[in-house]
Amino acid sequence: MPLVTLEGVSKSFGKNRVLNDINLTVEAGEVVCVIGPSGSGKSTLCRCVNRLETIDEGRITFDGRPLPAEGRELARMRAQVGMVFQSFNLFAHRTILDNITLGPRRVNGVRRAEAEEKARALLERVGIADKADRLPRQLSGGQQQRAAIARALAMEPKLMLFDEPTSALDPEMIQEVLDVMRSLAASGMTMIVVTHEMGFARSAADRVVFMADGRLLEVAPPKNFFAAPASERAADFLAKVL
Ligand code: ADP
Ligand code: MG
Repeated sequence: MPLVTLEGVSKSFGKNRVLNDINLTVEAGEVVCVIGPSGSGKSTLCRCVNRLETIDEGRITFDGRPLPAEGRELARMRAQVGMVFQSFNLFAHRTILDNITLGPRRVNGVRRAEAEEKARALLERVGIADKADRLPRQLSGGQQQRAAIARALAMEPKLMLFDEPTSALDPEMIQEVLDVMRSLAASGMTMIVVTHEMGFARSAADRVVFMADGRLLEVAPPKNFFAAPASERAADFLAKVL
């Protein structure tokens, strides 16, 4: 069973049609990289998947059910979707450990000791075990983004959405974050990753989705896509970024 399906999804902001008849299925365990020029609708697509945006037409399902419109059902669905953005969005006045345990404790009712034990294991996994008691500003950008990934994972999500997670990072910190994402992908996590890191898309994606002007122009395994993009738009885009 697919984990996420989008069928005929369209969305406009005023007169601006930013998603235009999007059809996409993401299987459990799959890593889908979404690439395309700025303004093509990649972030909006991500936000629609966990209903941070509503859609005008079409249907989205998560784990076999239509996205809940609101209330407790929606909160329950969102708790199963981890989201990591360009900006790290950690709580500035809380330690890294608190940042990671807050969600499980408040939303999932996990006891403090258990939440902390799990958080420390996650910090180990993302390579910043020694930063548990620091504040976010005491970490580098790459470390903060790894903490943000650990925080999302603490909720035991079924799906991870990444929206340009390395775009705000200094170049020398990009790889450490991509390495964490690569190992997450290898562990079987279902991931939708908006990225400009073509090396990551090439090596970690099961499929690459190319978007332009709100349309999904190509969906292909990275090998095929990078060797021979089917559309002129994609070929143009690749010529600029590769
Ligand atoms: P991408 O992530 O590919 O750069 P976005 O999904 O952020 O693209 O944006 C797609 C289009 O939708 C852009 O033209 C952008 O200006 C517009 N847009 C995005 N969010 C909003 C919003 N909240 N209100 C109005 N327009 C928006
Ligand atoms: Mg974006």
